[in-house]
Amino acid sequence: MINLNTTVWITGDQCSMKNTALKAADKSKSIILMIESVARGNRIQYHKKKLVLIYSIMRHFRLELEDAGWKVDYYEEYPNFARAVTEHFDRYKTSKLAMMEQSEFGANEKLQQLVPKSVDVEITPHCNFISTHKEFEDLHKTPDSRVTMENFYRIMRKKTGLLMDGSDPVGGSWNYDKSNRLPPDKDFKWKVIKTFKPDKITLSVIKMVDKHFADHPGSTDNFIYAVTRADAVLAAKDFLDNRLNEFGPHQDAMLEGKPFLNHSILSPYINTCLLHPLELARKAEEEYREGRAQLSSVEGFVRQLIGWREFVWRVYWRLMPEYKERNALGADHKLPEFFWTGDTKMRCMSDSLKTTIDYGYAHHIVRLMLLGNFSLIAGLSPLAVNEWFTQMFVDGYDWVMVPNVIGMTLHADGGYVGTKPYAASANYINKMSDYCKKCNYDPKQATGDKACPFNTLYWDFLMRNEDQFKSNHRMGMMMKNLAGKPDHWRAEVSNHARKILTNLESI
Ligand code: FAD
Ligand code: SF4
Repeated sequence: MINLNTTVWITGDQCSMKNTALKAADKSKSIILMIESVARGNRIQYHKKKLVLIYSIMRHFRLELEDAGWKVDYYEEYPNFARAVTEHFDRYKTSKLAMMEQSEFGANEKLQQLVPKSVDVEITPHCNFISTHKEFEDLHKTPDSRVTMENFYRIMRKKTGLLMDGSDPVGGSWNYDKSNRLPPDKDFKWKVIKTFKPDKITLSVIKMVDKHFADHPGSTDNFIYAVTRADAVLAAKDFLDNRLNEFGPHQDAMLEGKPFLNHSILSPYINTCLLHPLELARKAEEEYREGRAQLSSVEGFVRQLIGWREFVWRVYWRLMPEYKERNALGADHKLPEFFWTGDTKMRCMSDSLKTTIDYGYAHHIVRLMLLGNFSLIAGLSPLAVNEWFTQMFVDGYDWVMVPNVIGMTLHADGGYVGTKPYAASANYINKMSDYCKKCNYDPKQATGDKACPFNTLYWDFLMRNEDQFKSNHRMGMMMKNLAGKPDHWRAEVSNHARKILTNLESI
């Protein structure tokens, strides 16, 4: 019997050969522990496709590890972590546990509690982020000060040398977002994304998910995602070769029935460590340097990866756990049932909810300016909205959801992630999508039976929070527009909004 002294515990979102606990382990003395916990999958009502993704990635990674000569103790379809951990340590009696840090606040501690007291636990840093805690903390002049994504992003550009000419940004500007806000005009073209047919392993996972998680949202039918590093690399190549050049200009455009446009659709793989953000950013830079992709697209993609993604990770770890509970605007409405069915007369919401239910994916502007914007102006409870997003998206994890939902989308953090709420009326949606043309509602009206709920709720949202927003100079234009409205109009909008809010199911 080989003398194994170390257990390396790898969880479902850490299945990478670059996992730092795995990299530091001695193959001859280590045993890898992997557990499919049905109880963990049931903690909230995760979308079925997300569960298929995670469990299938785990089963494929187990084989990869075994092919590479690692000994793996794998617990398939197990009731919970506790039982598997107890059985594992009874059987192998290892004296050390190595684990890469968990991405969710409090999870390291929860998992450690399951391990026998005699075992030494070593937690290693996460492999899929490029910034350090210190780099972010050093930017805060006082404990309460705020750091902007843009400042942090510049530091990451300098640190990695990405899109830099010496100490200056390539092309003379750090950010080309201004070129990236085109509506879906006649020049808008997009390429169909590469999809992956479920293999035998994924099919067996689908059966398992249908058995244990039958009442979860979504369906296991038409599963299209990659579940191995090799296929995730192909998905990345598909994006870099076919969509990166066009990624930028129409990044904010939305089209009915088309959830996949020129975005990368790589978040499911980056967040599970199948792909590394830096490898993607470097390849994107190469596409620009070799003249195959325009700078505004490449800079936009690099900014999402080494700017926004790093920023939200650091914000999460700096401000949790109280951050998740913030509710600066005092929003407390329950989510309407149509968030789970898509059955609403609002064409934009119905379409984006239905495609989310089908694929567990929507692009950033659909998340922020449709689903998120509606949640913001309707005053839906931040915790409930956060849970809904975490449930429904295949790429959803606490660390990325909390800053994006509580901070960026709902402004419930009081303005750390963004200085003003991303509230918008139908005007924006009409400009950036093709939804309004065929909608039951009129994007120009704010009152009356045909009034678009986005308009009514937008103005009511500004009125409800007028005192707070008046002092926010970034909302000057919005508040000036509101100030120009006569009293009778304000009363009418307010009354109509009350009707909507007391019966959200009816819209
Ligand atoms: P692309 O548009 O191609 O961007 C490239 C990559 O940049 C993404 O894959 C992602 O890794 C990263 N990225 C871009 N924007 C962000 C951001 N704001 N925060 C963190 N990373 C970012 N992202 C998630 O990874 N998981 C989530 O659960 C998630 N939930 C969100 C919920 C809301 C309400 C909002 C507004 C945003 C959310 N985001 C989330 C951020 C962003 O919308 C997604 O990362 C992106 O849409 C994923 O699709 P993509 O891979 O095609 O991204
Ligand atoms: Fe959405 Fe309003 Fe446009 Fe209808 S009119 S699609 S509800 S924004």
